Amino acid sequence: MARRIDHIGIAVGDVAAALAFYRDALGLELTAEEPVPSQKLVSYHLRIGEANLELLSPTAPDSVIARFLEKRGPGIHHIALAVDDVEAEMARLRDAGYRLLGEKPTPGAGGKQVIFLHPKSTGGVLLELCADTRHAPRPSATEH
Ligand code: ZN
Repeated sequence: MARRIDHIGIAVGDVAAALAFYRDALGLELTAEEPVPSQKLVSYHLRIGEANLELLSPTAPDSVIARFLEKRGPGIHHIALAVDDVEAEMARLRDAGYRLLGEKPTPGAGGKQVIFLHPKSTGGVLLELCADTRHAPRPSATEH
């Protein structure tokens, strides 16, 4: 079951401008700046309550985010919901007929296991399910 909003992923073309807005103008705390090689991007976590806005900046032209920016320009890319067990959720949703992007979870930002649902299965939203791989009940100490 989905527990809470973990983060909202926002594709950015100009990181400096995005940080000037979200961090400096809105006053959100930048808690992490993390390369995610599996997705060819750098992720910037800006904490808001228990969730994060996650700015996604591509590091290669064939990155999914680079292609998104090319087609649609900067903006909301996905919404991520925290679950306890990604593989269990995948099996449950797949059995129910929903379309997943990928056969197994991949490593995402923050050491999490992530999988995406196809927007055609979710009413047009690219939805990510993510879980902490450490399987600990998630105190904020696990968020760096
Ligand atoms: Zn994400």
